[in-house]
Amino acid sequence: RVKARDALYAQLNEQQSEAVNYGSKSLLVLAGAGSGKTSVLTARIAKLISTGRVPAKAVLAVTFTNKASQEMQHRLRKLLDARSVREMWMGTFHSLCSKMLRENAEAAGLPKTFAILDVDGQEAMARGILKDFGLTKASLKESAKARANAAASRDLLTPADILLSAGGIQENDLEDDGDANEFVTPGQCAKFISARKEAGVPPAPPAVVNTKSMAVDQMEAVYAEYQKRCAAAGLLDFQDLLDRGVRLLRDVPDIRQKYQDKFEAILVDEFQDTNKIQYEFLQLLKSRKSHVMAVGDDSQSIYAFRGADPRKMFQFVQEMTTDAEAPEGRIVKLEQNYRSLPHILEAANAIIARNPKQLKKTLFTSRPDGNEKIDLITFGNGMFEASSIARSIHHMVKVLKVPPSEVAVLYRTNQQSRLLEQELNKLGVPLTVYGGFRFYERQEIKVVMAYLDLICDMTRDLSFARVANVPPRGIGERTIEELRQRAKAKGISMMEMVGEQSVFLESNPKAFGGASAIKKQRLLEGFSDVVLNLADMAAEVPLSKLIERLVEASGLDVHYKSESAGSKAGEAEAEERLKNIAELVSAARQFEVENPQLTSAADQLPDYLAYVALMTSTSEADMSKKPTISLMTVHSSKGLEFDHVFIAGLEEMTFPHSRAIAEDEENGNGKSLEEAFEDIDNVDAEDLDADFQDGDGLQEERRLMYVAVTRARKTLTISHAQERMLNGETKAFEPSRFLQEIPANRLRLINDAEQFAKASRAGRDTGNREYGGDAFDDGRSEYRPKAPARSSAPVAPAAARSQTAPATRRMAIIGTAGRDKAHEM
Ligand code: ATP
Ligand code: MG
Repeated sequence: RVKARDALYAQLNEQQSEAVNYGSKSLLVLAGAGSGKTSVLTARIAKLISTGRVPAKAVLAVTFTNKASQEMQHRLRKLLDARSVREMWMGTFHSLCSKMLRENAEAAGLPKTFAILDVDGQEAMARGILKDFGLTKASLKESAKARANAAASRDLLTPADILLSAGGIQENDLEDDGDANEFVTPGQCAKFISARKEAGVPPAPPAVVNTKSMAVDQMEAVYAEYQKRCAAAGLLDFQDLLDRGVRLLRDVPDIRQKYQDKFEAILVDEFQDTNKIQYEFLQLLKSRKSHVMAVGDDSQSIYAFRGADPRKMFQFVQEMTTDAEAPEGRIVKLEQNYRSLPHILEAANAIIARNPKQLKKTLFTSRPDGNEKIDLITFGNGMFEASSIARSIHHMVKVLKVPPSEVAVLYRTNQQSRLLEQELNKLGVPLTVYGGFRFYERQEIKVVMAYLDLICDMTRDLSFARVANVPPRGIGERTIEELRQRAKAKGISMMEMVGEQSVFLESNPKAFGGASAIKKQRLLEGFSDVVLNLADMAAEVPLSKLIERLVEASGLDVHYKSESAGSKAGEAEAEERLKNIAELVSAARQFEVENPQLTSAADQLPDYLAYVALMTSTSEADMSKKPTISLMTVHSSKGLEFDHVFIAGLEEMTFPHSRAIAEDEENGNGKSLEEAFEDIDNVDAEDLDADFQDGDGLQEERRLMYVAVTRARKTLTISHAQERMLNGETKAFEPSRFLQEIPANRLRLINDAEQFAKASRAGRDTGNREYGGDAFDDGRSEYRPKAPARSSAPVAPAAARSQTAPATRRMAIIGTAGRDKAHEM
């Protein structure tokens, strides 16, 4: 480990070294992508601890995602002893708050076993409320006509309007929820509630309800009820975690003191995406004795829609680094990029230079200039783009033996992964969709988690209802609903209600309500016995064992096996499910190793459930350990790097996103960050350009593009499709404006999709350039599509289109014709 540390320190450049060895004072490291910010932060932790300047337990490190924190821990394990790594606090703001609240549940006014409500749980909660309010799809359908009339007579905002104006909604979320205009769905309610809570807006008092629209009224009402139920059940959603964490530190001086004394060194990665409440959390933890190292890049601020504000970097320098002599001394800039080859870096620099408000940062690389240019490919349609990328990756991985973990496909919005996934699956390329259908969201995993939740705390009715009939035990929805009503009337949980009914049945079978009622009760008892037995077991065995027993005792294993019997596809699916459950057992074992102080499942469960809920929060990793290529949104790719990166779907309306285009690109009138930093001691944060905070859509999109491009180490392939299927309709799309912002001499244009697929990266990696593409031999200085004829024209009828889109036609002929065709036509 000493050797590993020495090697690490030896490679640092001068500025990096300055930051790593910075004294016990606070500082800001401000630098562009790939300049080693995260590396410096990690090295500083290693230095502080290994030299004994700061004990491991006095270190607090904040990362942006759980995945980032896992990676950092992994790196630190090579530099420090295991105990040190375990003792320091590292995680996201959410997970740190969760940990703090759990340690001080009583002082925070929370039950010791408080649970975290993830997005899924929020939806389940909203669904229950809608049901109780008679606002389900069925009951709403009845009044749909009446509402339509009402809508005609007043200016009705759709839920979509509301959600968009409430902020916090990203990536065409609404389409996922189906009929946005007719019904308020649980998903919409959940998003509405999150957006309100993030904006710090409490539920409207009932008097204010009825002023805007049916939809808003409904969502407001659901929001109010949601808050009540969460409080009653000891449930915290993600926003609550931050709110309650900050409140704990702010309102309980003893606890604030305790943590201020504890943490001597605080380090924050991705500081530019810190929002107000997270900043407040840091302020509360910072004491006179402690020092904070914040590293960030305003050019990579991409969460303004969630309230992130890069002006916080400025505020930080003013407020937290006051004991340094001169401003320059409190800011370290890194200027050498170690990640990307020159063409990629220059493209990134050129793109971000178009944003007038970024801080000027120099970024140079000393890597040799003999690299390949960026491939820019024009595809006939989205389908062809996906299949070409898939074939290209297949070739890289299978023939050229590129490690799958070094390949990533990035896209702007979540739903773009579907086609890519489909095409890669056809070729058997192993993949992980980050931020998509995540491990913990798989059906079988959710089922097991619901059992665990119920075992942990038997009053959790949501989980009770979720699994009472999984696997099928003959307990119908009606039975569950009746039980729920009765339990509610008595003010007890559903588990308790089963118990009470059981007692009643024993003592008074005649009065119970006949054979059918008794049969129902027996079934419920069967289920509750399973849970009770497992809960007993939980006191004695560790979590991983408990899960194994659970799968047997509940009958899930038999169920998944028998469900699939007979069909090949079904068997594969069952195998997959059982594999996932096995994976969950390994994950639980890992958790046990990392938390040796917790010995039985009963002890482990509250922490474990919190941990999992946090894992499902943001764009997180699949847990499988096998090497896979990565599919992810640009948002999820922040901080990561890959040898080979594809950015797909570079079209206007997609990237930049339609919403950003619709927004006004006008600059605000305040001082820019650049100006402010020049005179940091004499500028008031209030004077800063407020547009940084308010979306400033296109600039944020451009920063996203900067983030995307700077993920690549060696090759970058970017593409756009002339047509794409959207909501069941084929539409023409113009190439993204960002393509034109890349200097032409960095690009190689490829216009023939089929040729690209055939030659793939093979040509490039073996030095064989048989597929030329047509670079700019006509003296153009920027990318303009050469044959833009169809990109802005209305979509031609199918027959005409197959004339003008050979790619589509060829594809239809090669192999999977029927399906592809069906897709495109
Ligand atoms: P981002 O802005 O994308 O988060 P970053 O500034 O955090 O990037 P890192 O991820 O820390 O940058 O580093 C980028 C790459 O450069 C990593 O692969 C890292 O190992 C490498 N690197 C950093 N510093 C050096 C150095 N002094 N010598 C060699 N390689 C380095
Ligand atoms: Mg980083």
